[in-house]
Amino acid sequence: MCYAIPGKVIEIEDNICKIEYFGIIKKVRNDFYDLKIGDYVYAQGGFVIQKIPEEEARETLKIWEEFFYKLKEVDLRVTYPSKDLYKIANRIRQEYHDNSCCIHGIIEFSNYCRNNCLYCGLRKDNKKLKRYRMEPDEIINLAFYAINKLNFKALVFQSGEDLYYDIDKLSYIVKRIMEGSPCLLILSIGEREIEIYKRLYELGARAILLRFETSNKKVYEKMRPGHKLEDRVNLIRELKEIGYLIMTGFLIGLPGEEEGDILNNLALTNELGAEMFSFGPFIPHPDTPLKDFLPPPMEKVLDTIAQARILYPNSKILVTTAMQTLDKKDGLKKGLLAGANSLMINLTPKEYAYLYEIYPNRDGVGEDINQKIKEIIALLHELGRAPADIGL
Ligand code: SF4
Repeated sequence: MCYAIPGKVIEIEDNICKIEYFGIIKKVRNDFYDLKIGDYVYAQGGFVIQKIPEEEARETLKIWEEFFYKLKEVDLRVTYPSKDLYKIANRIRQEYHDNSCCIHGIIEFSNYCRNNCLYCGLRKDNKKLKRYRMEPDEIINLAFYAINKLNFKALVFQSGEDLYYDIDKLSYIVKRIMEGSPCLLILSIGEREIEIYKRLYELGARAILLRFETSNKKVYEKMRPGHKLEDRVNLIRELKEIGYLIMTGFLIGLPGEEEGDILNNLALTNELGAEMFSFGPFIPHPDTPLKDFLPPPMEKVLDTIAQARILYPNSKILVTTAMQTLDKKDGLKKGLLAGANSLMINLTPKEYAYLYEIYPNRDGVGEDINQKIKEIIALLHELGRAPADIGL
């Protein structure tokens, strides 16, 4: 199974191309390849990430063609006009994004963190947590496996704020992956020096996942001792200026948030120019100072997805693992039907994934990865979604 549909280049102007697949035309940016009209490419998040031989592209398109139109029919049936808030949001998703759904893989390569966020199980004062680090070559080999054997086109590399991975180690990882098997390489490594981020952009990283957690300054400073909201927001702005695609968002239900904060959180996500909105429920971890608080109800999370879709119809909206953890049976499906159009599959090896415990009992940890992919693809087909992400 492919998680992207090949697109044919039909127009080129400087480093912006128009590509076409099944009559849909999208704009993408090409930073890496010498392209001409008629070439075939894979694109993710609006970037050309691979140029592919014509024969391979035609074969993949043949497999997709009939199926793609069937999926579209199902998607249209599912989004039949309604007065229900979630259905309205899902209909808007269908109008603005068609039936494509991005699937990103995520590799959690270290659970060390120098920070002490009150809501997070990886906080440095949690002495009960066994810590791990994957070595650069282990990360690279897992990425190659995900790209070449599991067909992922977009990968998130995530860790706590772990200075063990200095500019040399991070550069080595990004360079080897982008030279060996290019993908939309997404960094989620916290607040690091801007020089590091500039260097990693030069080497081919193109997206950042960095949440601001809450737009409520008082709550932010309480939840993240020693940190300031404006520093986080300014860093996200600087990263956007470098050229990174921004994936950002917040926690729903953080203790201390007030009425109206969710709308402010959504507005800030939009104002930061997020390519993808990433927000999930706060889930208390038993070894943190917030252990006695409750997570928000599932309805609040779904309402937030629907509000985001209605207010910002062009955005990509992720169903986070935390949401899937809140409702293990149906969280993903409910999120997609409330207007979301993106998801992540955890590719972290089992022995480490258990230890990446930002909150307890995370969904998908310990499951066989091939089985998980099968289940997710089956769900997407049931909903009429094509696991693909072509362009802007
Ligand atoms: S939320 Fe991030 S920065 Fe804060 S303790 Fe957890 S891993 Fe570290």
